[in-house]
Amino acid sequence: MSIKILPKLGQPADTEQLVECTKCSGKTSHSVLAIVDVRGSEGDHRYSFDWHTAHQLIQCLGCKTISYRVVSSNSEGYYQDENGNTVYEESEKLYPPRIAGVKGLGDEVFLLPQKIRQVYEETLTALSVNTPVLAAIGLRALIETVCKEKEAEGGDLFRKIDSLVEKRVLTPVGATILHKIRTLGNAAAHEVKPHSEKQLSLALNIVEHLLKDVFILPKQAESEFADDA
Ligand SMILES: [Zn+2]
Repeated sequence: MSIKILPKLGQPADTEQLVECTKCSGKTSHSVLAIVDVRGSEGDHRYSFDWHTAHQLIQCLGCKTISYRVVSSNSEGYYQDENGNTVYEESEKLYPPRIAGVKGLGDEVFLLPQKIRQVYEETLTALSVNTPVLAAIGLRALIETVCKEKEAEGGDLFRKIDSLVEKRVLTPVGATILHKIRTLGNAAAHEVKPHSEKQLSLALNIVEHLLKDVFILPKQAESEFADDA
């Protein structure tokens, strides 16, 4: 077995990469600030398995945030393109992890009650590291925590969500959507049923709207219009 490590620190790559940004929503152009290339080979002259991992320090050209990208490929994973050329499949990992198209609440998260903030951040992490069962359970736990914080009444989550409509915390339409997320969490917890990233991202989006309406906007309004009668 041989391993070659080729640091190329301080050498900007000649190409830009389209990568999901932690702050901007969606994929943005990133420049590569530094690369460390690691190549390895195992086997003998009859058969060998080769692999390559590039460790990259990358920077978003929009918001300037710096993060870390690892791109891996090996001699077993390839396909032929339409012109008959061999293309090696690459797997990409990004740190800190991020979710396609999800921006999160950013600094507004600090306006949430402490318990809700903790469950929200853990749910966001579960989604970004591709653990859909935990993410769905987290979304359900978030709704439960909101119910507790707003002193919802009822013996189970179904009744508690409905009681938030009676308390005028939620609209009837909002409650219908939360019931859908509640059942999503039920299926994840009891049937270990994973949901698609798209379903969970949408559910997260809805819960973020709820958190904004119920906690964040009232706090912002309170501080901005404090002196008005
Ligand atoms: Zn960015």
